[in-house]
Amino acid sequence: MFDKILIANRGEIALRVIRAAREMGIRSVAVHSTADSDAMHVRMADEAICIGPPASGKSYLSIPGIISACEITGAEAIHPGYGFLSENAQFVQAVEDHGLTFIGPSAEHIRIMGDKITAKETAKALGIPVVPGSEGGVPDFATAKSVAEAMGFPVIIKATAGGGGRGMKVAQDAGELEVAFRTARSESKAAFGNDEVYIEKYLQKPRHIEIQVFGDGKGNAVHLGERDCSLQRRHQKVLEEAPGPAVSEEQRAKIGKICADAIAKLGYSGAGTIEFLFEDGEFYFIEMNTRLQVEHPVTEAVFDVDLVREQIRVAAGEPFGFSQEDLKIRGHAIEVRINAEKLPTFSPCPGRITQYHAPGGLGVRMDSALYDGYVIPPYYDSLIGKLIVHGRDRPEALARLNRALGELIVDGVDTTVPLFHELLADPDVQAGTYNIHWLEKWLEKTLG
Ligand code: ADP
Repeated sequence: MFDKILIANRGEIALRVIRAAREMGIRSVAVHSTADSDAMHVRMADEAICIGPPASGKSYLSIPGIISACEITGAEAIHPGYGFLSENAQFVQAVEDHGLTFIGPSAEHIRIMGDKITAKETAKALGIPVVPGSEGGVPDFATAKSVAEAMGFPVIIKATAGGGGRGMKVAQDAGELEVAFRTARSESKAAFGNDEVYIEKYLQKPRHIEIQVFGDGKGNAVHLGERDCSLQRRHQKVLEEAPGPAVSEEQRAKIGKICADAIAKLGYSGAGTIEFLFEDGEFYFIEMNTRLQVEHPVTEAVFDVDLVREQIRVAAGEPFGFSQEDLKIRGHAIEVRINAEKLPTFSPCPGRITQYHAPGGLGVRMDSALYDGYVIPPYYDSLIGKLIVHGRDRPEALARLNRALGELIVDGVDTTVPLFHELLADPDVQAGTYNIHWLEKWLEKTLG
């Protein structure tokens, strides 16, 4: 096992990794920008090292800066968290070239899954069901037109290099196709420096269901069921739950086995998430994330596992701490993402936290890097905390969420907490009968 690991991230996820490391007797090194000198991860880690100015391009995304920090502190392995360099194959290569260990999959697997067309082809070849669509990239409008007409409208144009919901455009009919095609291409070029796009059938009322998988890199793999992340705004998740209210035990066992078998066959190492759209009882692959997800705690709650601990163990060459037979779902868990944002526009709201009080009690977990007097810098993501609740069943989890939200105090900045109070009062949320379009419509109706 490692003696010391470095966390190439900030905020709540850096704390998450420091905590797992400490329980395992591993020392932790935090890296930070000059804007984060007072951040909680810097205070909580065993050591901290400044790697650059506020702009993430010059700090949290600086490969030489992070590798040097490892060399200076003697850290043997790097946990990337999510975002930043977590899905950057070039980074993984650099880490390995310096004789360090990346806590995550191989550069090769990250590369395959980072290109959505290659990912889809790989998934299909491994027996995973995919969304009907173009065979590979669509080079020009004439091809887009013939593909869309053959498949039938509506269709969605997606960026091969896409991520974070960017570079995606829907065309309801032939008349909308040209503008959608050209905008998706130019947005993709601007965001990712690559204008390749592909076309998929646009599903009208799917849920977003994702399967948590774990491989040991030696041909063994397990799945840890699904998370339903259908409550989304602009293709970004807002609330996640496990198990999915619309997934039956048989459906879970079937898709879970398909995913675990695929991961085993790939020889994949570490945690991964295979994302699907789920409509009329059928699963359709959309992409795979080769890292820990923001919403991993709901899976941890229902399976009673520490996913970060398992990531570290697998990276150190140790076997899993569980087998598929051990993995049984217990109760229901829900996570809400608390952002420093002003409603109804969701515009970022950085600033000083004048008072912070985290909720507690049975079945409540608050993952946050906030503290009284902390100043949220304007340079990074607006996620400031995740509130996760676990109950014996879904109604209990909902009641607990309502109770915990009532205890939470975040003063000094605007947050998305009021949104969750209102969402919880909605009968569709109470019943769990929402799809990926539900929240956008609800927001229009409720917030105007
Ligand atoms: P990103 O990597 O940018 O997050 P994804 O491929 O994971 O992109 O898609 C994000 C979201 O976009 C999905 O959760 C879903 O809401 C929507 N979406 C993607 N593909 C389709 C599709 N074929 N039909 C309907 N909605 C889709």
